[in-house]
Amino acid sequence: MATGKLKDDCIFCKIIKGEIPSTKVYEDDYVFSFRDINPQAPTHILVVPKTHIRSCAEIDEANAEYVSHIFTAIAKIAKSEGLDKGFRVISNAGKDAGQTVDHLHFHILAGVKMGEGLL
Ligand code: 5GP
Ligand code: ZN
Repeated sequence: MATGKLKDDCIFCKIIKGEIPSTKVYEDDYVFSFRDINPQAPTHILVVPKTHIRSCAEIDEANAEYVSHIFTAIAKIAKSEGLDKGFRVISNAGKDAGQTVDHLHFHILAGVKMGEGLL
């Protein structure tokens, strides 16, 4: 079992523990994935590590295994969700980027033609 340290006062840690309900998309020993509560595209899925990492700024050698599993999970989710027309992966880190939940998460957005603004 690879679940790492979870924080009592973190929304996404609570979702991982099942203390807050979510619509699960995918789960393995390292990763939990669920639909965003306030979708910004027809498909809007969040993928989070099963350990409390604050953001991309806190990825290091000790927790990188979780992050590599996130990306293998994203490829699996893209297949199972049929995102063959493409999708965008975003991770906001810190205030200027608009991060609102301080538990590392990757947004998968799809189902609409996205503009080239910012990215
Ligand atoms: P951020 O703005 O930090 O990049 O993204 C946080 C995301 O988490 C937002 O898109 C927001 O809608 C989503 N979110 C916040 N609270 C919950 C929740 O309790 N359940 C679900 N499914 N999504 C949440
Ligand atoms: Zn957390």
